[in-house]
Amino acid sequence: MKQISRCSRYLNEFPGMVSVAYGMAFRIDDSLLKRDASHEPVQARIGQVMDWRDALVERYPVLLRDGSGRAVGRPGVGDGWARIVVRAIGRILAAGSSTGDAVRILGIAEKYGTLRISIDVSHRSTAVAAIEEAVALAEAASECTCDICGGEGMLYESGNVLSTRCVAHGAGAPVPVSPGWENIRIVRHVKAGKVRTVSCRRYDRATDTLIDVPPSALGLDE
Ligand SMILES: [Zn+2]
Repeated sequence: MKQISRCSRYLNEFPGMVSVAYGMAFRIDDSLLKRDASHEPVQARIGQVMDWRDALVERYPVLLRDGSGRAVGRPGVGDGWARIVVRAIGRILAAGSSTGDAVRILGIAEKYGTLRISIDVSHRSTAVAAIEEAVALAEAASECTCDICGGEGMLYESGNVLSTRCVAHGAGAPVPVSPGWENIRIVRHVKAGKVRTVSCRRYDRATDTLIDVPPSALGLDE
């Protein structure tokens, strides 16, 4: 088994995953397939080095292709976010399989330095909350993870382009964050004509969790 230390974080997350010796290409852990009933028998090319984006499309065709076969869910993001995407897909599949509802990913892209995952699932599905949480965790993770190398990152602005990068890969200048507001995610809905805070949480990168923060701790009402 060939492993390189640079990719050891993948191995921590997915014990069966084998990293390969060049680039950031890696093979997807077979154990990730066990919840995906759509998966075709593993083909001969699995095991060869292939781009992780293509590997995901091959492994999860029903999830990542649209009705006419286009790979609309093929991730359009940097290698540094590979682990975040794989983890999100695992959670989304788990949520969908728990209810048997059809789930399709319509897009995995970067916008304003943040990962965006678009999902098609029935609003009546009881899996919606779990899927929304999987997406929230992935987006929060992307906001503090360099999209080139996967190291801890922050938002940089160069010209009009925003990107999340580590110090080594940062382009332009870091976008300032008010003290205490690092990795804060606030979800607000309008209800009965009033804006209400639905959740106010801080993303913890070490544990990949969102932890409740009292809005008052941030100087917010409610
Ligand atoms: Zn980096």
